[in-house]
This record gives sequence, structure tokens and C-alpha cells, in this order.
Amino acid sequence: MSTVAFIGLGNMGGPMAANLIKAGFTVKVFDLVSAAMQALAEQGALTATSACGAAAGADIVVTMLPAGKHVRSLYVTDATSTDDTNKGLIDVVAPGTLLIDCSTIDADSARFVAEHAANKGLEFIDAPVSGGTAGAAAGTLTFICGGSDKAFEQAQGALNAMGANIFHAGGPGAGQVAKICNNMLLSVLMVATSESLQMGVDHGLDPKVLSDIMKVSSGGNWTLDKYNPCPGVMESVPSSNDYQGGFMVDLMVKDLGLSQEAALLSNSSTPMGALARSLYVNHAKQGNGKRDFSSIFEQFAQSKQIKK
Ligand code: NAD
Repeated sequence: MSTVAFIGLGNMGGPMAANLIKAGFTVKVFDLVSAAMQALAEQGALTATSACGAAAGADIVVTMLPAGKHVRSLYVTDATSTDDTNKGLIDVVAPGTLLIDCSTIDADSARFVAEHAANKGLEFIDAPVSGGTAGAAAGTLTFICGGSDKAFEQAQGALNAMGANIFHAGGPGAGQVAKICNNMLLSVLMVATSESLQMGVDHGLDPKVLSDIMKVSSGGNWTLDKYNPCPGVMESVPSSNDYQGGFMVDLMVKDLGLSQEAALLSNSSTPMGALARSLYVNHAKQGNGKRDFSSIFEQFAQSKQIKK
């Protein structure tokens, strides 16, 4: 079985690396937080003292990092640096190593790394995920890949150990474009579902009854089926746990920023995405950045309280 270097063991990366171990891969991990590495070591991972140490000799490198700047600086050596010990992964991995970045980042950063990898004869794919922390733990993530046919084929074994649906969206960067299109739509659905539910509640309706009606009517959508934002309607979702866990508002703000940058680049009209970004930015500024993104529901519940 191949050796996988896994770098970035946060809310998503930790359980993803654990699923690779369960599937029989030899997994060598690195994170800036040593407690995150320790948790994986207890599940059978080898640990490294640096990202390069983890990646050297691996067949596959998987990264799961916060943003584009982290991915660029980890993979590509800073041309202005004189520090020889601070090389990018592309300059230390063995020939033939497959590079897979699962972070949600801007498509330009993904293409930048893919181009540098190609210059060294290496395959890189962007493979952002959908499915959240629950999907990461259950090994049921959706992977949305951008890269060559060859790299996509090579990545199947590792991706299947962490996910249930693996898509090839197109060439380098295409996975990131598809991912931010999806998250822009998700944010709009969450806001629209929240305002509709609250309006029903304001008129005296039971939000569970209203949700059941809308689920099987023309307003039905994923947030009503799987992630109801109104507390108490659905068990085991963040709204019924004071909006803890799940997908942070700060990360949704990041993704909506990426979608608006992408819209500018392609001169696309995205008025709903722009409004959703503005609402989420405001929500984050009110101290909700670390809470789940379904907490946007409270913005509408609050307006009712003000009226009283
Ligand atoms: P997180 O902040 O929990 O984890 C990121 C990890 O990366 C941290 O443990 C951090 O220490 C580590 N890290 C940062 N720079 C590093 C470096 N140079 N070397 C080694 N480790 C480094 O974030 P997360 O929730 O796991 O999200 C990771 C990515 O997945 C983000 O791009 C996010 O947008 C995306 N994503 C998250 C979710 C979700 O529900 N949380 C869902 C889909 C996609």
C-alpha cells in the first residue's frame, strides 16, 4: 500500500487522515499544532518534524490547509529566500509523487502550484471537498477535482478512502471553481431558507410543520433536508447545538470572497452571491465568525425581537 504524507490536520484534515490509516495506507503526518499530530499518532500515523520531512519519500502528498497563501508557500519555494532549509514541497518530493490539495482556495493559486509542479514533471490536482466535518469523519466526502486525466486516475485510491463521490471538473483550477459555485449557491439557500422560516414563525407557524411543507414543495432544498437553521427543528445539526461545530461563518466568508473575485475575473453577474457575502460579513463582524454558518438564521430572528 502507498505511503501518504498528510499535511494540515484540522477539523477536516484530522478525520480524513484517520480514514486513510483505516484503509491501510501508511500515513505520515505534519501540522503546526503538535496536539493534532499526537491525536493521529494514537491512531497509527507516523509523525514528522516538518512538512518536507513528511513529504520526502511519500508516494502521495495530501494537504488540507486554510487558504491559498498557505498552499502556495507550502508547495513552492520562495525564490527570494536564501534559507535552503525552507524549500517548497515540489523541490523535495521524489519523482512521480502525486500532489493533492484538498483545501478550498482561489483557482489562481491552484493553477500557480500546478504549473510549478508541472515544471518539475510532477502531477498536482486541486481536490476541494464538500460534506463538512461529518462527511470527513464518515469518509463520505465529495471530492471535486481539477487536473489531468492521469492524475485524476492516480488519485482514485486515496480519494475513495476518504470520500463517496469523486468528480473530475476539468483541468487545473476547475475543482476550485466548481467548489465556490456550490458554496455560493449554498449560502444563498441558507439565507433564503432562514428568512422564509422566520417569516412563517412571525406569523405564528410551527417551524417544523413549515419545514415539512416546504421540503416537499417547490422551495425544497438541501438546507431543509439536511441542515435546518431553525433551532429545535432537526436533531444532530448545529442549529440544535447553539450553532457549534459544522462549517464556520469565517470559512463561508472566505469562500464567498473567492466567489466574488471569480465573478469579477469572468465578468459574471452574481447579485445573490454578492448579497449573501455582505450578510455573512456583517454576521461575522457581530462576533459569529467561529459559529456554524446556519447561525445566519439569528439575523432574521433578531429583527423580530427588535420589532417587539
Ligand atoms: P482548520 O483551521 O481546522 O485546519 C487547518 C489546519 O492546517 C490547522 O490544524 C493548522 O494548524 C494547519 N496548518 C496551517 N498552515 C500549515 C502549515 N504551513 N503546515 C502544516 N499545517 C498547517 O480548517 P478546516 O476546517 O480543517 O478547513 C481546511 C480547509 O477545508 C479550508 O480550506 C476550508 O475552507 C475547507 N473546508 C472546510 C470544511 C468544514 O466544514 N470545516 C468543509 C469543506 C471545506
